Amino acid sequence: FFFQAEDGIRDKLVTGVQTCALPISASDKLRAAIARRHGVAHDCVFVGNGSDEVLAHVFMALLKHDAPVLFPDITYSFYPVYCALHGVTYETVPLTDEFAIDVNDYLKPNGGIIFPNPNAPTGREVPQADIERLLQANPGSVVVVDEAYVAFGGTSCVPLTSKYPQLLVTHTLSKSHALAGLRVGYAIGQPALIEGLNRVKDSFNSYPLDRFAQAGAAVAVEEEAYFNELCRKVARTRERLTGQLKELGFEVLPSVANFVFARFPGRDGAEIAAKLRERSIIVRHFRNPPRVSPYLRITIGTDEQCAGLADALQEIVYTNKNK
Ligand SMILES: *Cc1c(COP(=O)(O)O)cnc(C)c1O
Repeated sequence: FFFQAEDGIRDKLVTGVQTCALPISASDKLRAAIARRHGVAHDCVFVGNGSDEVLAHVFMALLKHDAPVLFPDITYSFYPVYCALHGVTYETVPLTDEFAIDVNDYLKPNGGIIFPNPNAPTGREVPQADIERLLQANPGSVVVVDEAYVAFGGTSCVPLTSKYPQLLVTHTLSKSHALAGLRVGYAIGQPALIEGLNRVKDSFNSYPLDRFAQAGAAVAVEEEAYFNELCRKVARTRERLTGQLKELGFEVLPSVANFVFARFPGRDGAEIAAKLRERSIIVRHFRNPPRVSPYLRITIGTDEQCAGLADALQEIVYTNKNK
């Protein structure tokens, strides 16, 4: 994000690091920048070292109850890890046959609900109206929408937080801002939820973000036009690649993320992934659960990289059929 940005953006970063006030526990400037960007109040924002840390606090502070937390059977692999670590009971809810989250399947007693929107590794999005229907039917426990990939074409639920006190939305600067190494993520929700998160966080580390991360994240969050242009570029390449894959005979799930989930009928995902690797192209293959095994999760690269991928796939699925 910063290295490719124009000099003006880098200058703002340097000034930001120099002027960031100590003590830094409250991350005030960064929280103010995030609040402005999303049009929410300052006390509706919680920041952490990556959204993984934010989620760790969420599981500990908001999702630990007698009833199980619900999340999809195919989703971000860290959720069950947090549950095990923090002693949170959970129940997984199968995706539909089309690999979608159906909110009707979540209308049962629970200690909280969490899912990424769009989901990973499918890239599929739950329509906003369905999420609102879920919130209306589920007023008694916290609903967390993990929007790690929302900027590539999804619709954010942040505006719904003013209406639903049980809704918490998490974001990260690791994906769409290309700042994974800076380790900054945040959550937006009504002040009561944010206060609960702060109480748990302050119980073991009240100095969460270093000065550089705060300054860097604040500048990145403020550079909205530059950010939007980069995200649009990824989305355009995703649509082009989706078209190319379909032309080759792949089935591609409708994605609004910076990756696509695709399979070639009759061919094994692991075998295609291995042949791509021989050509120095790395895609992600998941062996489990069995119904995702035919699929490949392909990250959107540059136009040139995606064109190279399409050529390699053509070779693999047609020319080398019997090799
Ligand atoms: C990457 C990712 C995160 C965590 O990202 P951080 O680098 O910790 O901010 C959280 N949720 C999902 C769905 C992700 O893909």
